[in-house]
Amino acid sequence: DYKWGMAIDLNACIGCAACTIACQAENNIPVVGKEEVARGRSMHWIRVDRYVAGPRTLFQPVPCMHCEHAPCEEVCPVGATMHDSEGLNVQVYNRCIGTRFCSNNCPYKVRRFNFLQYANQQVESLKALQNPEVTVRRRGVMEKCSYCLQRITRARIEAEKAGRRIRDGEMVTACQAVCPTRAIRFGDLNDPASDVVAAKASPLDYHLLEELNTRPRTSYLRRVLNPDPELE
Ligand code: SF4
Repeated sequence: DYKWGMAIDLNACIGCAACTIACQAENNIPVVGKEEVARGRSMHWIRVDRYVAGPRTLFQPVPCMHCEHAPCEEVCPVGATMHDSEGLNVQVYNRCIGTRFCSNNCPYKVRRFNFLQYANQQVESLKALQNPEVTVRRRGVMEKCSYCLQRITRARIEAEKAGRRIRDGEMVTACQAVCPTRAIRFGDLNDPASDVVAAKASPLDYHLLEELNTRPRTSYLRRVLNPDPELE
């Protein structure tokens, strides 16, 4: 079995946001206008947080952490957010009834409610056809980073055709593919020779909100600051 994981090197990230844009293009995420953003409806599955520390600006890309102990899963009343057989935290769109409990319970705030996506509309329309008294309700659906599950599936099919496992570097997420500084590493944690295992072995490796014991599959390499900002 595969065990997917990601490590993001904060020393390499330059805050260009190419990862956010590539993710939007790959996953068909609606780009909303400024007014919507002001109302807190920005749509992205990986955001780049910015911290100003004196003369420095620090950047931190934040996708879904794919927690092994996922707080979002505990509160979903319909099992729309759950773990798959490889331990990924996946969103089952056609189960989602839009309560948004998962988003409220996510400590990393990486879930986005897509008002424009009517995943349940077909089911509702069918019910309405069978019973004219049923009103078609349009409701949005919760979305989040899937570690590019569609790319994983494609890589798996290709590898199985060749009768082998997916090799390190063959499965690249959309954000990883465009990062100009190779800040994002992704791969199989069960492959001891993988790039991501090497990154996670670094003494700089840490988890966001470690104290919550969510056991995230996404980790970070801590930024090492030069005492003299001029030298950075
Ligand atoms: Fe940072 Fe790479 Fe994302 Fe640019 S593309 S913001 S360098 S992680």
